[in-house]
Amino acid sequence: MNALAIAGGTVVTPRRIGKADVLVQGEKVARIGKVGRGIRRASARGLLVLPGAVDAHVHLDLPVAGTRSADGWRSGTLAAAAGGVTTVIDFTVGSAEVPLPDQIEQRTAEVREAVVDFALRAEMVGWTADRTPELAQAAERGVRSFKFFLAYASSGRRTPLGMLRQAMNAIRDLGGTAMVHAEAEELLDPGGGPFPLARPAIAEEVAIAEVGVLARETRCPTYIAHISSAQGMRALRAAQRSGSPLVGETCPHYLLLDERVYRRPDGHRFSVTPPLRSAADRAALWDALARRWLQAVGTDHCPFRNDQKDPFQNVPSRIPSGLPGVELLLPLLYSAGVARGRIGLPDLVRYLSEGPARAFGLWPRKGALRVGADADLVLLDPKATWTVDAGRLHMATDFSPYEGLRVQGRVVGVLSRGTWLVRDGEILARPGRGRFVPWTQGRG
Ligand SMILES: [Zn+2]
Repeated sequence: MNALAIAGGTVVTPRRIGKADVLVQGEKVARIGKVGRGIRRASARGLLVLPGAVDAHVHLDLPVAGTRSADGWRSGTLAAAAGGVTTVIDFTVGSAEVPLPDQIEQRTAEVREAVVDFALRAEMVGWTADRTPELAQAAERGVRSFKFFLAYASSGRRTPLGMLRQAMNAIRDLGGTAMVHAEAEELLDPGGGPFPLARPAIAEEVAIAEVGVLARETRCPTYIAHISSAQGMRALRAAQRSGSPLVGETCPHYLLLDERVYRRPDGHRFSVTPPLRSAADRAALWDALARRWLQAVGTDHCPFRNDQKDPFQNVPSRIPSGLPGVELLLPLLYSAGVARGRIGLPDLVRYLSEGPARAFGLWPRKGALRVGADADLVLLDPKATWTVDAGRLHMATDFSPYEGLRVQGRVVGVLSRGTWLVRDGEILARPGRGRFVPWTQGRG
């Protein structure tokens, strides 16, 4: 078997930081420690060697608001590779008419050009109790996570709490995870505007509190997507302290940006749901990361080009909502988190690799740097600095919410199952090599 030593770097896991070589044999990590002579070597001197990031929340080629998110599987996963994300979790296209197994087959068939490995989550739309057998059928196809919306009644995506409770009981029995978009519909402005006042933080707090009670009672592991506010964090903490098995995610845009951007002439381009909040909310989310009150950072990657958002500048209810994220997840969390002293290096890999991989049944095959895991590795130059320029990124959008931001830390090497996707800063990734990763039984 082809052997390769990533030699002389600083290896980072959630529990350990230290100088070590990593021996890659075929698609797996075979050894961490000293690797002797006679083995092909790639120097990682001066670099951090991290487990590949798992972005548990991406929307590639998503049909929404009469358009599609700008990144397809090719550009979206190429961008992921460029940024050190070696696994993405995307969604089926939920429907009241199409059963989950058919949704999974359709979505898998569409993924012909993935560069990195991917898993799928079923998007629950038009869910009714008589569809319960579909959950086990999805599980047989390697999909055990299911996303519910407490908002978006007008587009038929909202699941009432009674139905959610019933589904959570079934998901617990399957050993899966419910994911919830937690905004209480009754507290949102049905007219959609003015953005972002239409979606207040109290809607998030109330919804997380409600879901926390359901998760405690059903004992169903439940992942709260994109927590954006101090109020949302308060509800998450209260639920977790009461024994509710909630897993909390926030996103880079809630950590790096705040509502001031909406006052800019191009403020509408920052439309995202939930919306960006206050500087105090931002600080509360960093504090939560520092205290390990959250378990994952994902991007909710859902990019649009300016020509998709600009026509609706003055029609907040019709602006496609979402921001690009997958390519900058790791660099931004390193730069604004680790380099600024807000979180430690082990927490970086906890939030980007182990946390999301464990929450969605991929760990330790994914999200772990240990013997026997897939050789998904990132080499990061911690000293390199660079400036965000949307035109030089690989995502298929001409907009970056971070345009002009100075970033410390650069991804210079990426391996996926032992194959170089990025080497010495050059992208070598080949579309079509990414594979579906099924949920593995158990959480490790
Ligand atoms: Zn999302």
